[in-house]
Amino acid sequence: MQHPASAGFFISHDATAWLGTFLALNAQEKGKLIMARVAVVTGGTRGIGRAICQQLKFDGFAVVANYGGNDEAAQKCADELGIQVRKWDVGDHEAAIAGCMEVESSIGPIDVVVNNAGITRDGTLHKMSFEDWNEVMRINLGGCFNMAKAAFPGMRERGWGRIVNIGSINGQAGQYGQVNYAAAKSGIHGFTKALAQEGAKAGVTVNAIAPGYIDTDMVAAVPEEVLGKIVAKIPVGRLGQAEEIARGVSFLCSEQAGFVTGSTMSINGGQHMY
Ligand code: NDP
Repeated sequence: MQHPASAGFFISHDATAWLGTFLALNAQEKGKLIMARVAVVTGGTRGIGRAICQQLKFDGFAVVANYGGNDEAAQKCADELGIQVRKWDVGDHEAAIAGCMEVESSIGPIDVVVNNAGITRDGTLHKMSFEDWNEVMRINLGGCFNMAKAAFPGMRERGWGRIVNIGSINGQAGQYGQVNYAAAKSGIHGFTKALAQEGAKAGVTVNAIAPGYIDTDMVAAVPEEVLGKIVAKIPVGRLGQAEEIARGVSFLCSEQAGFVTGSTMSINGGQHMY
């Protein structure tokens, strides 16, 4: 069943999912029939983002997964999770604003944004092109700004909102060959603390999660011998699972986390503690 306002986008054809958008009881407000809160997860169709979408749907949110270009993975995600998906480049300011406006007009006001979309363009500084620097900053950090510009004012006006930004252990500790990625992720942590101060009095919390090494396509791109050395330095002795990050997001998006803002939750198997 396709909502007329969604023409041109993939959506789930699962009618129960669409009805769920309107009828779902938000798990945090059991007993009351209310509109489900709307959560947009950028980069929500694969890896960590997909696990976040699954978790937030379980929590009772009407979830929209944004993605950048892989239509096949997006359709699979929509079909398997029973959620709606929308394509736009989070690093493109106009596209992000237009995408969020379309979500608000076809589904409802955006109550939760999870800024998860991210890319790597690794290389040591002397080999890194300006394009590789710029693209990572544009998508990983610029995407957070663009999504916040679209959704944060409405959250403040309505007196409730949750923004969760996915940073990285490498934004906290740095990493060889990642000046672009580490700078963007470190920027996310600063962005989080600054925006948290602007939302606090209006009931909008802004937090970050700094994942360690998680078993996704992004980490699959790391050469095996490098990955072996990384895992050897993780005290729990393994890569993390996407679902372990999703459970952190779930808490930060909950009613119970209203006093948690401006924080960075490190979920990294003990690899970096400070
Ligand atoms: P994946 O590469 O598995 O998935 C990335 C997702 O982001 C995809 O859905 C992709 O869409 C989307 N995306 C990429 N570029 C854009 C764009 N310009 N606009 C919109 N969506 C885009 O990544 P992970 O799941 O591994 O990582 C998710 C987040 O977690 C990232 O921010 C990453 O930096 C961070 N992180 C990951 C760690 C890890 O170990 N995996 C560790 C620490 C942090 P499409 O499918 O269309 O390309």
